[in-house]
Amino acid sequence: MKSIYMDYAAATPMSEECLEAMSPYFTDLFFNPSATYLSSRSVRENVADFRSRAANCIGARPAEIIFTSGATEANNLAVLGVANRFPKAKILVSSLEHSSVLEPAAKVGSELIPALSSGVVDVNKLNTLLTDKVVLVSVMLVNNETGCLQPINEIAQLIEKIKKERIKMGNKLPIYLHTDAAQAPNYLDLHISRLGVDMMSLNGGKIYGPKGVGVLYVKAGTQVEAQILGGHQEFGVRSGTENTPSIAGMTTALLAAQSSTVKQSEKVMALRHRFESELLRLFDGVVINGGKRRAPHISSVTFPGVDNETLMMQLDESGVQCAVGSACSASNDSPSSVLKAMGLSNELARSTLRFSFGKFTTEADIDKCLIALKKYIPTSVA
Ligand code: PLP
Repeated sequence: MKSIYMDYAAATPMSEECLEAMSPYFTDLFFNPSATYLSSRSVRENVADFRSRAANCIGARPAEIIFTSGATEANNLAVLGVANRFPKAKILVSSLEHSSVLEPAAKVGSELIPALSSGVVDVNKLNTLLTDKVVLVSVMLVNNETGCLQPINEIAQLIEKIKKERIKMGNKLPIYLHTDAAQAPNYLDLHISRLGVDMMSLNGGKIYGPKGVGVLYVKAGTQVEAQILGGHQEFGVRSGTENTPSIAGMTTALLAAQSSTVKQSEKVMALRHRFESELLRLFDGVVINGGKRRAPHISSVTFPGVDNETLMMQLDESGVQCAVGSACSASNDSPSSVLKAMGLSNELARSTLRFSFGKFTTEADIDKCLIALKKYIPTSVA
């Protein structure tokens, strides 16, 4: 029996198109782009071309695109790169962030911005935390456990106002806005000027591209100290021989994702609606976490009184693959920090599963998942 995959927020299958784009860089075009002979030069030109296309796709300039080993590295670079450059300044990160923002931020003594029960960062509270010592604010675009969309435009406007005030007051400390957009490219427009951010993290493995590759967009003039030192690749911000196959795959995936956001959103939204409305109809007390403003591919579902680890394993045995919180925290015993930040008790957080959908999810998959759930959870309707 082939399992039904409902964990697209953790990983997506790679597209044929990406595989094809990557393949020559493992074989004929294996050359190190930094070498001096002609074959290397053509690989170097190809890397430059991928960088331009990735930049163009989000309305950036090529020199603003730093290829990394994934969103974890991009997030670490954004947080630690600014913290190390401005060691006396303050960093604010939302309490809903992925651990790859929270952990480096905790290491440099940052402050957490609280969240509302709707799963959205508390912008009023952020406003009160924005003192003249703040150098960086990091708020994700789409939360990876609930799908909740964060008010990046509103925060960007707030930060823009502060930038202008600082110039007027003669405060030379810059203030930057970083967003972790790892869950966003399939569904949201990532044009930098429309988002208004100074830095943005992306990853290949969630957009039908390869794992282990990502991008940090760094707006020109943003002062970020390199975290990986060596051969000065990626404009000196991230040393290490360029991962040419992954750069090809990441760029191809990003372009494909951004060219089909409307189509993907419509399809996945309809599936999620079918899933959630049936859950609410069938099971007493079930709660869908997060308010109305959510990316279409994630359902965070609390089944009060049910142990999520047990239910996840039972579903797995019945051929349904879903997640307990984020895949990255699955090995960690403590209840989800995201759900806790939204005010859920430990008990409710431990009764919550994440179902996430994508390109190959069908209505039949949704129905089979509901049938499997009915096996383990008492229903309120016959
Ligand atoms: N940020 C978010 C929102 C994520 O969902 C993930 C992956 O789960 C990451 C960061 C980490 O990405 P990567 O595995 O590319 O390091």
